[in-house]
Amino acid sequence: MIKIKRKKTRQVKVGDIAVGGRSPITVQSMTKSKLHHRQAIIEEIRSLESCGCEIIRIAVPDRESVARLKSLISEGVFHVPLVADIQFDYRLALDCLEIGVDCIRINPGNIGKQEGLVKIIQLAAKKKAAIRIGVNAGSLKKDILKKNKGHLVDSMVDSALESVAFFEKHHFFNFKISAKASSVLDTIQVYQKISDKLDYPLHLGVTEAGPLLQGSIKSSLGLGILLSKGIGDTIRVSLTDRSQEEVRAGYLILNNLGLRKYGVDIVSCPTCGRTNTDLKSLATEVEHMTRNITIPLKIAVMGCVVNGPGEAKDSDLGIAMGKKKAAIFVKGKVIKRVETDSILDTFYQQLQTFIDR
Ligand code: SF4
Repeated sequence: MIKIKRKKTRQVKVGDIAVGGRSPITVQSMTKSKLHHRQAIIEEIRSLESCGCEIIRIAVPDRESVARLKSLISEGVFHVPLVADIQFDYRLALDCLEIGVDCIRINPGNIGKQEGLVKIIQLAAKKKAAIRIGVNAGSLKKDILKKNKGHLVDSMVDSALESVAFFEKHHFFNFKISAKASSVLDTIQVYQKISDKLDYPLHLGVTEAGPLLQGSIKSSLGLGILLSKGIGDTIRVSLTDRSQEEVRAGYLILNNLGLRKYGVDIVSCPTCGRTNTDLKSLATEVEHMTRNITIPLKIAVMGCVVNGPGEAKDSDLGIAMGKKKAAIFVKGKVIKRVETDSILDTFYQQLQTFIDR
């Protein structure tokens, strides 16, 4: 496999996680639950952590949310760095920094007066917190759009450059930049241009990407093309689906580009006239069974014993379904044949031996 040469950016710290420099590209997500729904958000945070989310972002829309976040922090709910997402009101960002969040995500364009932004920068510096400058295609300043004659990509780049100059003027450098558009091509162009001009770490994402299938495809294209050029230090796949799916999609993108080795990669055949089983259900069951495994494993689910093991010989462990018998194979070699009804149990036992090794 070709090795992607990553652009070396400055390194920033988000809590105890390094972003940029030579550090691995991290996978992050944002909770969908509200802080007001205490149990739901605790469960979502636990679930995100268990599937490998390395940085968790939470929307903090009001004062009451700050108080609720404070109680979660003091109860030790978070085991990964926490980013508070703030819109409009700089005082909420200050409150979040006071309660100990690791990073603030703001769009400097919608924070309003510069005094508020300066206060955020000063307090973040004091607390050794990071800031994510989040330029968004939907909320660009009118004067920047006018200067660029409405050209979205150039306006987003200018907006990012303007914010960076402001942060540098105030001697704050512990920040990363995101500049997400909902169009894949715009997103690629914006990040490419920013990467050409700056060496701060970049948080990649295609915004409002859509439901599971569409969102995963758009994100794979946008993020994949940028990552393949060595651009990007941390990623979020935005999906109209469970946040855990965002994390899984993120790792799948990185794994398939050889940029991380994390969790299970399922290889399953498309089925054909030789298939005598409901392979779609079987692959779904295997996917559920393996979704919290964090060690890198390639698992195959194939529709026939004749071609399956050979077609998936680069997988670590696999199932090939026959008419009455099914086979378990390792690196393309059949190691066990069992009745089709008991294939999942046998597979599970075999999987445990891989995990325990
Ligand atoms: S593995 Fe067998 S069933 Fe699946 S596509 Fe190939 S030949 Fe068809």
